[in-house]
Amino acid sequence: MNAQDLQHLKNLLLKQRDEIFDRLQRFEADWDALSERDIEMEEEAQKADLTALYDRLDEMEQHEIEEIDRALSKMGTVSYGTCEKCLKPIGLQRLESLPATRFCKRCALKAEKRTGL
Ligand SMILES: [Zn+2]
Repeated sequence: MNAQDLQHLKNLLLKQRDEIFDRLQRFEADWDALSERDIEMEEEAQKADLTALYDRLDEMEQHEIEEIDRALSKMGTVSYGTCEKCLKPIGLQRLESLPATRFCKRCALKAEKRTGL
C-alpha cells in the first residue's frame, strides 16, 4: 500500500467518523425537542421507545467510532491493512469499502460462519 492509498483511506475513516457524530447530534436534537414538549399519555409510550432506541443506537455508534479510532491509530504503524488473524495484506478494494476492518475477506467470512451471522 502506498502513501497515497493510505491517505485516501484515512480520509474515508475521518469522513465516516464525522458522519456518525452528525447522526448523533441530529438524534440528540430530536430528543431534546421531544423532552421539552408537554408529555401526554401516548407520548409517554413514544418516549419509552425512543429511550430504548437511543440506548441501542448509542452503543452501536460507539462501537463504530471505537473501530474507526482503532484503525486510525493503526495507520501510523505497519499493521494497518494487515489481517489480524492470518497476517496477510487486506485487499485494497475491501479497505475501500470497509476502511476500519481488521480482517481480510476470508477470515471475516470464516468468523461470520462461526458466529452464525
Ligand atoms: Zn485473514
